[in-house]
Amino acid sequence: MTERNAQGVKYADMMPVPDKMKAWVLGDPDELKLIDKDVPVPGRAEALVRIDAVAICATDLEIISYGTPAMFEGGPPFNKNFTPGHEYMGTIAALGPGVDEFEIGDRVTVEIHAGCGQCKRCRAGMYTSCHNYGLNYGDRDKGHRANGFTTNGGFAEYAINNINTMIKVPDTMSDAEATLVVTAGTSMYGLTELGGLVAGESVVVIGPGPIGLLAVAVAKSLGASPVVLVGTRENRNKIGLELGADVVIDARSEDALARVKELTGKGADYVVDCAGTEATVNQAVHMTNRGGKVCLAAFPKKPVEFDLGYLAVNNIYLYGIRGEGRSATHRAMAFMADKRFDATKVHTHTFPMSDLPEALRYARERIDDAIKVVVSMKDSAAKSAAAE
Ligand SMILES: [Zn+2]
Ligand SMILES: [Zn+2]
Repeated sequence: MTERNAQGVKYADMMPVPDKMKAWVLGDPDELKLIDKDVPVPGRAEALVRIDAVAICATDLEIISYGTPAMFEGGPPFNKNFTPGHEYMGTIAALGPGVDEFEIGDRVTVEIHAGCGQCKRCRAGMYTSCHNYGLNYGDRDKGHRANGFTTNGGFAEYAINNINTMIKVPDTMSDAEATLVVTAGTSMYGLTELGGLVAGESVVVIGPGPIGLLAVAVAKSLGASPVVLVGTRENRNKIGLELGADVVIDARSEDALARVKELTGKGADYVVDCAGTEATVNQAVHMTNRGGKVCLAAFPKKPVEFDLGYLAVNNIYLYGIRGEGRSATHRAMAFMADKRFDATKVHTHTFPMSDLPEALRYARERIDDAIKVVVSMKDSAAKSAAAE
């Protein structure tokens, strides 16, 4: 039986929702505590999601140590009972007033950002660059939400999500794979912001982290040719080949610039930098052909020096992308649901949610060649060693 309560929120007997839940919260920098929190109540255009699995992202590690780029209630996220975690999936447990786009019991994966929906950027579909970023509290509540950045995220038993951020997961897709859709969505956003018409065009991806590896898979699925991956870790380059790279270049033993010129003649049509170091930004600019496009999909931590004049003289376009705008996650899901590539090749480890600190340590120190570490709520099903 399902019914709406006096506040218009719909619950169902098949998915009983408790009043309290376990949630990891950030204390001081690098301090995570498991506490009991009230289960949140969904508002208009929102649903309550029971978290089933959540993947760990390098950005989570940054937030836990430095606070940025999270911004909670107008400032750093420390000691505010803030729950990080943004690459999660789960099952809908309650629907806010008026919500009929989903049913209780639907399996969903989520994208991070629900912009305010009313600023110039949100109106253009660029909700990851919302002008009201973080304004969701007090008398400046513009309704902006970014799970695990400006609102509570997925290292908990339940989380609230705007309906615009949820995508149904097909029965054929595992929980772990579904947590990777938003990462593939970020890769997709980079490629589609560059113009998207990459079929038959050369694409170089620098940096075989999760976004880079899935950028290889997405570029290949979009028909790019050749797809070249530049990396320094042999095991990751090997996964790049499995995900569709035509050529991998080991940047330690080969001259990446010379190799790309050799493979493409005039240089690459598109270069996606997923490493974000001074060296890779320079590589990206100089391996792009005249009139080609460079996408910065990683955030360099400090100012970088590069030949801006070379870019202008050669009519090279430089794009910065943030996150997974313009419904790119839906396009990524379409490819993954259709088994165009196997994103689980980047999933290396699984831990139960109670072992989150250990899972974070594996991700941070890349223990046992960890790439994507997934935390599962189904503790009995989760193994603390290698996954599938
Ligand atoms: Zn992430
Ligand atoms: Zn906005």
